[in-house]
Amino acid sequence: MTLATKHLLVVDDNPVNVEMILDLLDDHGFDHVHGLSDPREVLGYCRAVRPDLLLLDIRMPHLDGYGVIEQLREHFVGDMPPVIVLTAQVDDATRHRALEMGVRDFLTKPFKHDEVLQRIRNILEIEQRFSIRDQQAATLEQMVAKRTRELDYQSRTDPITRLANRRGLTQSLRETAMSANGAGLLFIAVDGIDDIIRLHGYSVAERLLKQLGSTLGNPLDDNHQLGLWGGSEFLVIAPGHTPAALGTLGITLLHTFEQDLLVDDLLLSVNARIGISEAAGHFDPDRLVQMAALALPQSNGVRLQHYSQDLEDQQRQRLHVQRALRDATSRHEMSLAFQPKICALHHRVIGAEALLRWYHPELGHVSPGLFIPLAEASGDIFAIGNWVIEQALGFIAEWQDAAWMTADFNIAINVSARQLSRRDFADTLLTQIKRHGVELAHLSLEVTESGLMNDITNARQQLEQLHTAGIAVAVDDFGTGHSSLAYLKTLPLSTLKIDRAFVMDLEESLVDRQLARTITQLAHGVGCNVVAEGIETPAQADYLRSIGCEIMQGYFYSRPLPAADFIELCTTWEHTPRPA
Ligand code: C2E
Ligand code: MG
Ligand code: MG
Repeated sequence: MTLATKHLLVVDDNPVNVEMILDLLDDHGFDHVHGLSDPREVLGYCRAVRPDLLLLDIRMPHLDGYGVIEQLREHFVGDMPPVIVLTAQVDDATRHRALEMGVRDFLTKPFKHDEVLQRIRNILEIEQRFSIRDQQAATLEQMVAKRTRELDYQSRTDPITRLANRRGLTQSLRETAMSANGAGLLFIAVDGIDDIIRLHGYSVAERLLKQLGSTLGNPLDDNHQLGLWGGSEFLVIAPGHTPAALGTLGITLLHTFEQDLLVDDLLLSVNARIGISEAAGHFDPDRLVQMAALALPQSNGVRLQHYSQDLEDQQRQRLHVQRALRDATSRHEMSLAFQPKICALHHRVIGAEALLRWYHPELGHVSPGLFIPLAEASGDIFAIGNWVIEQALGFIAEWQDAAWMTADFNIAINVSARQLSRRDFADTLLTQIKRHGVELAHLSLEVTESGLMNDITNARQQLEQLHTAGIAVAVDDFGTGHSSLAYLKTLPLSTLKIDRAFVMDLEESLVDRQLARTITQLAHGVGCNVVAEGIETPAQADYLRSIGCEIMQGYFYSRPLPAADFIELCTTWEHTPRPA
């Protein structure tokens, strides 16, 4: 430590004392020493240049040493320069009071030079150590603060896209919620990332997400915040937007997905769906996100949807039905109904379509049109589909020896896309048929067009196996899907069912009559026979018969019937008059 650079201030009302100490210090290498004999000047002096040490007399006119310390304490708050008191009084009261005020040491008059120098050096050394320690502490504090800021930023940022992550978004949403100006949210679900991961790996998918993050940011302004909510879900916070503006922004964002993205050498394309929610004034951030997620369109085709209470109610109802559906078969709530199929030429019952019926004690009758899609989504369709097969085979086994059940009598069961997508579907079905001892000719399947197209390679394999075994398969609801007859032609199908949509307006619509005729001709052209479903009037039946439909089905002939009623119908059919 170089004491020479230290700045000392000596204050004593007796100039002789001041002079004496200044000389002493000067002789011992202190270059920055200053003296004052008027205590009232001390504060002003210290304000201008803060000394490293004060040697302060206690007894002085106008303002005593205590008064000076009081002023300095007030001015320097916690950082007062150290003070050594110069005093002739050594009584305990003086000592105690001075120490209480933060005085470091005492020098008693008359001064002993060695002691004066030593005490000064001691205090300056201690101060020096304190100051080094303070500097180190300050540097450490700065480093910790910087690191804390970095960690905080990292914890709020997604490392791949560099966008706010869920935590960051939640924080921003909370801040926006406080502002009382309301906010809109766009919940963007990117579809197709899983396929990209499967085909090209995680690193390609990550780079794609990064690119998406920056493309999505392009149409946004400073008012918006874009972030990554989950694996492939982005969120845009748009404070104070109207629903219309949010819709427009959503459409703009959807447009960005129309362009393929170049990742490495790959041109990749993904799709997105957007759910929109908005709130006025203060709002609950979690609820706003939940509303936007709920508004995410689920059905094919729709890409953007605003939240509404109706939508939420519908979804709750769906969820309710989906829960109720679980184990419905084991609770004996399901049954099969049979809708007769009539041979157009001979007006004979030549079989039936088995249709699933569900009666829930609380929900009542639930339509298969409603619960089958839900069962497909939840995977319950496997258990339910299997139950249908077992039930139908049980009935056929029971009926196949009855006189009314002719050799070509056929019961068709509906099979969903997901069932058919199982690689062991045909094997399992054939085993079940064998176990029930059912003639193969008595069972056929109905599969919708979209069901066939879902996983065409596997569907083809399953259909070929069934065809070889001798089980007929019909395309159901023909005309409502992609209607690629050219494509269907390549599959081993035996029957085409014209959808009710074409049948219902036959009488009024020339176009529908032409369509029904063309479909029938085309089906015959590829070797399929034709079933018309949903026939409700004699005129519809007549027309369909006239264009060559082989089989008729619809309320005009019979509604779907419980098994006992169906048997009754079959056994008494001979006596049913042929419709005009
Ligand atoms: P689908 O296979 O096209 O069945 C024909 C639907 O039309 C049945 O409705 C039937 O009751 C109804 N229908 C028949 N004739 C007429 C008519 O003249 N007029 C009117 N308005 N409707 C008629 P349902 O029973 O409600 O079944 C709806 C759909 O649910 C079925 O359409 C089928 O896709 C599916 N489904 C029914 N049972 C099963 C099943 O066991 N498994 C699977 N995977 N799907 C099933
Ligand atoms: Mg059907
Ligand atoms: Mg149908």
